[in-house]
Amino acid sequence: MIVGGGTAGWMTALALARMGPPHAPHISLVESPDIGTVGVGEATLPTIRHFNRWAGIDERDFIRETQASFKLGIEFRDWREPGHSFFHGFGDHGPEIAGLSPYHQMIRLGLGDALDQFSLPAQAARAGRFAPPSDDAKSLAATYSYAYHFDASLYAAYLRRLAIGAGVAHVQGRIDHVARNPETGLIERLSLDDDRSIAGDLFVDCSGFRSLLLGGALDVPFEDWSHWLPADRAWAVPCAGTDAIEPYTRSMACTAGWRWRIPLQHRIGNGHVYASAFQDDQAALDALIDGLDGPPLAEPRHLRFRAGHRRRFWAGNCIAIGLSSGFLEPLESTSINLIERGISLLAQLFPTAGLDDVLAREYDRHMINAFAGIRDFVILHYRLGRRTEPFWQAMRAQPMPDSLADQIALFEASGEIAIRDPESFGEPSWAAILFGLGATPRAYHPLADREPADAIERHLARGRTLIAGHVATMPPHRQFIDALAAQPISRS
Ligand SMILES: Cc1cc2nc3c(=O)[nH]c(=O)nc-3n(C[C@H](O)[C@H](O)[C@H](O)COP(=O)(O)OP(=O)(O)OC[C@H]3O[C@@H](n4cnc5c(N)ncnc54)[C@H](O)[C@@H]3O)c2cc1C
Repeated sequence: MIVGGGTAGWMTALALARMGPPHAPHISLVESPDIGTVGVGEATLPTIRHFNRWAGIDERDFIRETQASFKLGIEFRDWREPGHSFFHGFGDHGPEIAGLSPYHQMIRLGLGDALDQFSLPAQAARAGRFAPPSDDAKSLAATYSYAYHFDASLYAAYLRRLAIGAGVAHVQGRIDHVARNPETGLIERLSLDDDRSIAGDLFVDCSGFRSLLLGGALDVPFEDWSHWLPADRAWAVPCAGTDAIEPYTRSMACTAGWRWRIPLQHRIGNGHVYASAFQDDQAALDALIDGLDGPPLAEPRHLRFRAGHRRRFWAGNCIAIGLSSGFLEPLESTSINLIERGISLLAQLFPTAGLDDVLAREYDRHMINAFAGIRDFVILHYRLGRRTEPFWQAMRAQPMPDSLADQIALFEASGEIAIRDPESFGEPSWAAILFGLGATPRAYHPLADREPADAIERHLARGRTLIAGHVATMPPHRQFIDALAAQPISRS
């Protein structure tokens, strides 16, 4: 039984339905037509493509149905200081050089500020071009990946059609009571406000910020991280798009937070995430509206949230996936990725042989690690720049998690980057943000000096030329989308 029909609910329903019998025939999803979905969540990470493949989604179909565009990474504007820009691309910055990560030579040669030039996705994105990566692992065109931007409500509707087609039962009604077994504490039944009641054996809570089952009925406490990530509100509004569609998200630092710009085929999604302790709602809305590329296409929506997660993700016979389990501001588009990870773990640990707390503990261990890794990566963005507004000064002055303090100190002392969660952001992502914000390590790997500096400079210059040459062969992003969308579609 899945509770909630937002992105999390329908992704979970479709993925579990695709596991096939014996699970598929027993999946029901209940959602309230009166309680809306959060309706934002338009930028993703490349892992969404694994999910779509698992769900049997044809890319052409998906691109048409959700008005999607391709995403090669994120441009960060004004984060280091006003006027400065850098790119976090979905790809590396070149292969190892003489057995060492290329970043050591970049540090040695003082090229940290030129990092984007060694990233194919960053260069293609800035040129407004897109083509999918090559399958030939030896090719330069295999050094990057891509994700999507899509219309969140179209994506949920699309998943709903596919899930119902795959056998998921759709129940519409508002849950007003959750009944638990008095002895075991397990959830047994949900009562709807029209007197219907539905029984189940396993419940997936996808009820959004309400966290109806895990946080509500089971009372699992919230691990609050708002002292590290104080942004707690957002305005979101779509506006008219332009003819060219940029194949990347833009994130622009502001007085007390940051704005997003997500170009889709039919419009641009915009939002302003801010800390209400440092900026009032009207000023935040004004900053968003002033920065739009075109006229707003709807009334701005106001959202409130809190950084952190539930202390348990799986308790008894209830697993929370999506906003019901926790939230970290969408700076690196990680929420849908966390939904994917939750779904994939649930499939892996599915209690086919009955409930066993070891499954829940293993699930929790992975998800807590995933949240902590993303938390550190997101906080990093606020730590190193030179913006002077009170919000930014406060962000730099406050204590940070020990794991992040160690990461920054390690990089500054040695140019090394420690990867604690290999399933999340890798070395190129950390390097993009660290160099992008202006971190300057005091040392690099001693073996980097074994190669003459001029030979390395020639090697790197050749890399830059190859990237520029390859980017010139890629089609403009809009042209690529139009050609793809025009291809015949195979429906799953
Ligand atoms: C400002 C902001 C920007 C974001 N941007 C991104 C982004 O760029 N990328 C990204 O990956 N993620 C982003 N996210 C997160 C993303 O929107 C969510 O992870 C995603 O939409 C999943 O939401 P959900 O399905 O968990 O909850 P919701 O969409 O809130 O759905 C909750 C569902 O539960 C149902 N429900 C609730 N209570 C009841 C009840 N009593 N009875 C019956 N049904 C009930 C509702 O009807 C609804 O169907 C963003 C979030 C915010 C707040």
